[in-house]
Amino acid sequence: MTTALPPHTTEELRALLAPPGNALLHELRHGLGGPYHLLFPQRFDANAAAFRQAFAEAGVDGRVYYAKKANKAAVFAERAAVGGLGVDVASHGELREALAAGVRGTDLIVTGPAKDDDLLRVAVLHGALVAVDALDELDRVLALAGRLGRAAKTLLRRLPPGQPHSRFGLDDGEMELALRRCRTEQVVMAGFSFHLNGYDICERADLAAELIRLCTRARALGLRADQVSVGGGFAVDYVDAQDWRRFHESTRPEHFHQRKAFSGYYPYHSPIAGADALAALLSTNPAGEKSSLADLVRAAGVTLLVEPGRALLDQAGCTVMRVQGVKERDAYDILTVDGSSLSLSEQWFGSEFLPDPVLVPADRADRADAGPYPACVGAATCLESDMLTWRKLPFPVRPAIGDLLVYHNTAGYQMDSNESPFHELPLPPKVVIEPSAHDSASPRPRWRLDRHP
Ligand SMILES: *Cc1c(COP(=O)(O)O)cnc(C)c1O
Repeated sequence: MTTALPPHTTEELRALLAPPGNALLHELRHGLGGPYHLLFPQRFDANAAAFRQAFAEAGVDGRVYYAKKANKAAVFAERAAVGGLGVDVASHGELREALAAGVRGTDLIVTGPAKDDDLLRVAVLHGALVAVDALDELDRVLALAGRLGRAAKTLLRRLPPGQPHSRFGLDDGEMELALRRCRTEQVVMAGFSFHLNGYDICERADLAAELIRLCTRARALGLRADQVSVGGGFAVDYVDAQDWRRFHESTRPEHFHQRKAFSGYYPYHSPIAGADALAALLSTNPAGEKSSLADLVRAAGVTLLVEPGRALLDQAGCTVMRVQGVKERDAYDILTVDGSSLSLSEQWFGSEFLPDPVLVPADRADRADAGPYPACVGAATCLESDMLTWRKLPFPVRPAIGDLLVYHNTAGYQMDSNESPFHELPLPPKVVIEPSAHDSASPRPRWRLDRHP
């Protein structure tokens, strides 16, 4: 039998999944007429506060930039603006959205490869920090700044020595050339940046220390070099350690519809996640150093920038689908829901979003619960491969038409990075959930639509 992988959850979400709170979920499904996402902006605020707290406790001058690509909702950019966070943008659209939400241009960092001239021009005019990814891009930045008569504020992005085949960043030779080209009035060379795949804390500490040493070298060349961005990549903990271990120990091919096999899974359990990962990073002694990264940062008079996307969105959203059909097969059911796997972007990586969706029954009557009832979850499309969950989930009660399935913790990349109106299915709207007003007697939260679908 398939192992359960219950998702970590929150008080406000639990209150919506059980009576009487679940009436709101069914009402929203009725009103919106299809699948939808819930957003919890107060979680975003709390995650951001925890990151700032980690900097404060380590006595480090730090700045948090929300990596906007992790979710398209307006509300998170709005919370970033109100909270005085920076935002990491990597396209015209993201830049416009951040500015429209009220984030100041000087609080933006523009990342991404080979940014086009218009994006660079707007970035320079706004005094945004530009993370330069290549020498030809640097040349264009210098030329633009010259024409505009304004210095461009730049970071030089480092190719990670541990990921030498990454397509991002400048290698040793390119970095040397870039430093020399930055000795001009057209640029304020603010420092260096990197962004690593994976969640290794030591690798980040080592590279951050290297960039701090690079700051010293750059200053010797007369450059400002007082900021280091360590990018994003702060893990999120989706499921318990024990459940995660059991899943790996007990999973068999027959636990998946069509015996579907995946080459790997995202690490849904992470012992050190979010702001704790930042605290751990700051207290790590980088290779070859006798003091912690925090001490090195302080001693060098450097400001440390972080660009978390996923971690700021931990528990800040979930995805709700309605069961439209239940097909009984010999040993398990095939559920069909009203949305598609494009609302769970893990499919993009040839893998599956593993935390179990939670079933919210349509009725209050007790169903026979001699479960578990194994079932996989298919999409409302005509593709054999369009499955939200290939794994035969062990449902505690038998799913029925009209029940809701709630996929937890989908705000970070899952809910919208891959969405598409395939089959003319509407894009799931985003519903912002906030606590009821203080003067209200009702414990029921308030909702509104995000400005974006
Ligand atoms: C995607 C990205 C991030 C955010 O990464 P997370 O894993 O979501 O924290 C930060 N910086 C850069 C340059 C990125 O490309």
